[in-house]
This record gives sequence, C-alpha cells and structure tokens, in this order.
Amino acid sequence: MSKSRTNLMNELNRLHKERRRLVRHLKKEEELAVGTVSIVKRKCGSPRCHCANGPGHPQTLFLFQDKKQQRRRCKLVRREDEPRMLKAGERYRKFREALKQLRAIDFEEKQILMALAEERAISYK
Ligand SMILES: [Zn+2]
Repeated sequence: MSKSRTNLMNELNRLHKERRRLVRHLKKEEELAVGTVSIVKRKCGSPRCHCANGPGHPQTLFLFQDKKQQRRRCKLVRREDEPRMLKAGERYRKFREALKQLRAIDFEEKQILMALAEERAISYK
C-alpha cells in the first residue's frame, strides 16, 4: 500500500469514527423544540406597570414551522414551560450543528474516496 493510500485510509477511519459519534448524538431520545426558542422583552400593556416607561418583561417565544398550515408560527411559552422549552431549544440547536458536521464529513469522505479512485485509475494509452 502506498504512503498516500495509507494516509487516506487512516483519514477515512477517522471520519467513520466521527460519523458514528455524531449519529449517536443525533439519535438520542430527548425531546426537541424544532424551531427557535428565544427570550424577548415585551410590554404587558398596563399603563401603570413599570414596563410602560422602561424595558418590557422577559418573555420566552417559540418560533416554528406549522407543518399543516405550511407557515411560520410564533407562540408565547407559558412560564411553567420555560425551562423545558429553553432546554429543548438548545438541544435542537446542537442537533442542527451535528447535522451540519455530518454533511462536512460526507463531503470530506467523497473527496478521499475520489482520491483513492484516482490511485486505482487505469492510465490507458
Ligand atoms: Zn408590564
């Protein structure tokens, strides 16, 4: 086996390990907030509230795609659901990140396989 072939094979093995790690993470059975969970400041509307002349109250929002209606929706998150939604939102952010890494691995893998193919290519004269 040529040196560059050994290096390419090692690189492929490294990518496979990394892929397994990512897929393990992506398969985890934890609930996800598929969309964006964010905290915004909102005014409650009461003229006597301190927020009337200052920053609003922190409020958690959940932005997501409604599959049935095919449009983006925004829901206020109830106080008692905030910790759960924020955690699930953070999990989904990491899920998306892992998917992105998986795509980068796919790309790298293709490059390596193509380089290995070049080594085996018939040079036909
Ligand atoms: Zn207020």
